[in-house]
Amino acid sequence: GLSLSRPEADPALEVLHRVFGYDSFRGNQRQIVDQVISGGDALVLMPTGGGKSLCYQIPALVRPGVGVVVSPLIALMQDQVDALRALGVRAGFLNSSQDHETRREVEKAFLADELDLLYLAPEALGGGTSSTWRLLEQGNIALFAIDEAHCVAQWGHDFRPDYLALSMLHERWPEVPRIALTATATSRTHEEIAQRLNLKQAQHFVASFDRPNIQYRIVPKNSPIKQLLDLLRTEHNGDAGIVYCLSRASVEKTAETLSANGIPALPYHAGLDQRVRAANQSRFLREDGLVMVATVAFGMGIDKPDVRFVVHLDLPKSVEGYYQETGRAGRDGLPSTAWMAYGMQDVVQQRRMIDGSEGDLAHRRMLSMHLDAMLALCETVDCRRVQLLNYFGQQAGPCGNCDTCLTPPETWDGTIPAQKLLSTVYRLQSERNQKFGAGQSIDILLGKKTDKVTRFRHDELSVFGIGTELTETQWRGVARQLLAKNLLQVEGEYSTLALTEGSAAVLRREREVMMRREPEKVA
Ligand code: ADP
Ligand code: ZN
Repeated sequence: GLSLSRPEADPALEVLHRVFGYDSFRGNQRQIVDQVISGGDALVLMPTGGGKSLCYQIPALVRPGVGVVVSPLIALMQDQVDALRALGVRAGFLNSSQDHETRREVEKAFLADELDLLYLAPEALGGGTSSTWRLLEQGNIALFAIDEAHCVAQWGHDFRPDYLALSMLHERWPEVPRIALTATATSRTHEEIAQRLNLKQAQHFVASFDRPNIQYRIVPKNSPIKQLLDLLRTEHNGDAGIVYCLSRASVEKTAETLSANGIPALPYHAGLDQRVRAANQSRFLREDGLVMVATVAFGMGIDKPDVRFVVHLDLPKSVEGYYQETGRAGRDGLPSTAWMAYGMQDVVQQRRMIDGSEGDLAHRRMLSMHLDAMLALCETVDCRRVQLLNYFGQQAGPCGNCDTCLTPPETWDGTIPAQKLLSTVYRLQSERNQKFGAGQSIDILLGKKTDKVTRFRHDELSVFGIGTELTETQWRGVARQLLAKNLLQVEGEYSTLALTEGSAAVLRREREVMMRREPEKVA
């Protein structure tokens, strides 16, 4: 046991001062550190930037033996280890990117108890049969830290099968404390982590998920590049930020367009050469005012405090993903923006990806539920932060720092327009046996005699021209909201519209459809 009665006998605080140069613990770091030093298990939910690393680094330095850190972030291990070594911490890592020689040296240091921290990729453990596992059996282990612990949860948004083997750590080393950490977990994921990692005895530490300095904004996607340029020019001139796109092609195109418009931008996606990726990442971290245009491949574990904005040009697949990605903004606590443009095409695309995804029905259903929660966040007329925090099981009141608080959106009764659009889809199908995309239905409702309308004689349909009370943008909003509410669906390669089980109730006037008013011009 440690005596904490005299200040100089507080080894955790001493390490915090001497090694890391910080004055005091933050949030619940102190309680977490004490729990692990005393040999207990901990499950830590703390938002990005909250200071998770110290929660296992300090106990590893205080307890005898080597702290073993399991992390999926292979690309960052070198950086993490370098940063620790610069502080005088004896750190090393083992992963597949290493040559034989280096590996032998790390192994030797580990066995001689000459390391404070050893970072490992989960796949290295190989289910208890690998050489790494045998190595661990011969060493003296202070603790196991399981970083990005949500990766063990199949319900979560970032499941990695290699993580399942981590349940065996407890069986093999029942006396070694384990600390699992994640920045993202709904209560359901949280429970799954505790269960799969066998953390029944662990103390749970749940920090607030609120990031009050981040302003959340979600706008309809009209001309995304132009909207993005407006945002950057008017609010984030010269700032560093991240722009997330779904595809590699749109990453490339967006980065080029920004550069052509005088905004220094770099691309990042898994299709780029490893060296280009590493170079772009390190420029983003070291230089000021660069915009990283990236797929979600970018960002896990990146610690850049002054990211002033995170933009999503495409809809994220889940609220967890959205929260984690936007959480990379404003780690320094200064005002930052999380801005997303989202449109009908996003819903279409994501639903199609889910339908075409591998995996069983249960898996597709899970993906659908993740998407529905994300859509509910987009379409809400209430405070975004309240919705976001509720999703993570936290209660809150309206924040005053999100778009819906700052400019409360009006709602309107969209039942009649919904009926008009659904009737158009119905008539195309029942009278003509045809299916078309949303654009054609909107042209019909607006009474536009386009080539395609006259060619298919859609101007002879009874619904032709019955929707002139709304603009094209407003109709797109109606279609998008119906898709988001599952009152309309898209099918097949050409994303044609089709009715759903819910459509009938609207057509029979048994169901009202309240909608969010679309701003005609979007800031
Ligand atoms: P997380 O892993 O939760 O995203 P980090 O462990 O990377 O967060 O910490 C985020 C930042 O906060 C880092 O720059 C870290 O050095 C700093 N930090 C963590 N704890 C403290 C503390 N007690 N006092 C001052 N700075 C801290
Ligand atoms: Zn709000």
